[in-house]
Amino acid sequence: MKNIISIIKYQFATKKIIGLGSPLLDIQAEVSLQFLEKYGLKLNNTYFAEKKHIELYEELIKIPTHSHVPGGSALNTIRLARWMAQAEKDQVKFIGCVGKQDKFAQMLIETTYQDGVTALFDEQSYPTGKCAVLLCNKDRQCLVPLIGASAHLSQEFVEQHIEEVKTAAVLFCEVYFLYPRAELTKYVFKVAQENNVHTCLSLSSVNAVNDRFNEILAVLPYVDYLFGNEEEVEQFGKNFGCGFGLQESMLRIAKFSKVGSKDRVVVCTQGHKPTLIAKKNELLNIQVESVDPQKIVDTNSAGDSFCGGFIAELLNGADLIKCVRAGNYSAAQTIQHEGSTIPNYQPDRS
Ligand code: ADP
Ligand code: MG
Ligand code: MG
Repeated sequence: MKNIISIIKYQFATKKIIGLGSPLLDIQAEVSLQFLEKYGLKLNNTYFAEKKHIELYEELIKIPTHSHVPGGSALNTIRLARWMAQAEKDQVKFIGCVGKQDKFAQMLIETTYQDGVTALFDEQSYPTGKCAVLLCNKDRQCLVPLIGASAHLSQEFVEQHIEEVKTAAVLFCEVYFLYPRAELTKYVFKVAQENNVHTCLSLSSVNAVNDRFNEILAVLPYVDYLFGNEEEVEQFGKNFGCGFGLQESMLRIAKFSKVGSKDRVVVCTQGHKPTLIAKKNELLNIQVESVDPQKIVDTNSAGDSFCGGFIAELLNGADLIKCVRAGNYSAAQTIQHEGSTIPNYQPDRS
């Protein structure tokens, strides 16, 4: 494990990672109960934004102690991958869509650049995607996501940047993006597969696996690496009609129809329990190094961070054990911090 980061950096010089998905600006602030009531929000809930919530975001950014960081599952992965590989800006890019002439778009672009990722953002006449993270009584209490412009990435914009996809070493996308843009995602994966890019898809959530199962199956032949946690993979297995449990489900997904010369790899994380990998008829089981439970602050984006470390190491060759260890390392760092902020120290894998 010694010096693994410097090795990643050295070999990374000519290799690029490209992300595709829904970029969201996460805006976090401490608010009062009255604030929640004003917008009809109750504690411990998620509310997809309605018209009455638009003003909420404006109000949040006026709170002097608010913070805002780039968010959205796939963008979180890409930011973490950039950190793990200590890569240059032009080597890690993200294709998505934000609002036209919208100050939230500016905030999202600026913070994405600050995290070392090049934002290739289309602009459409919808509000920039965002997620309000409202803290009340010191706990993460209420989320208000607004998908907005992030769902409106145009085919034209993708065509303009298709060379970025063709010349990347790794493409990463989230199943959430299949809600609005399933056909476009399939197209990008097809192009990537034809150009020998490592293609990666993350299952996002149990609901997403259910809601978009047919779309997942449509893109799956072009997917080299499929990521999920145990609930998501189990749900996939159920929808697949194989009630054989997690490992059998993984093997079946691994063997599902595939184009290109690479065998599909299915990666299943299980929190602190071992990470499982399926490839052809083989199953691997890789221990997760324990993190002192007292140091765990927020496991919300553990899976996204895992994928970040994994794909950073993927640039270095497809040694699956090393990739999983890198994933477990980056996830272990982020669960010791609030939200999906990028650590302010260099990755240390010695
Ligand atoms: P998700 O966030 O998608 O549910 P998991 O909970 O499976 O994903 O976590 C992904 C990775 O994060 C794990 O493989 C592990 O590396 C790390 N992780 C999560 N929870 C813990 C924990 N309690 N202790 C140590 N590592 C953890
Ligand atoms: Mg989990
Ligand atoms: Mg996850």
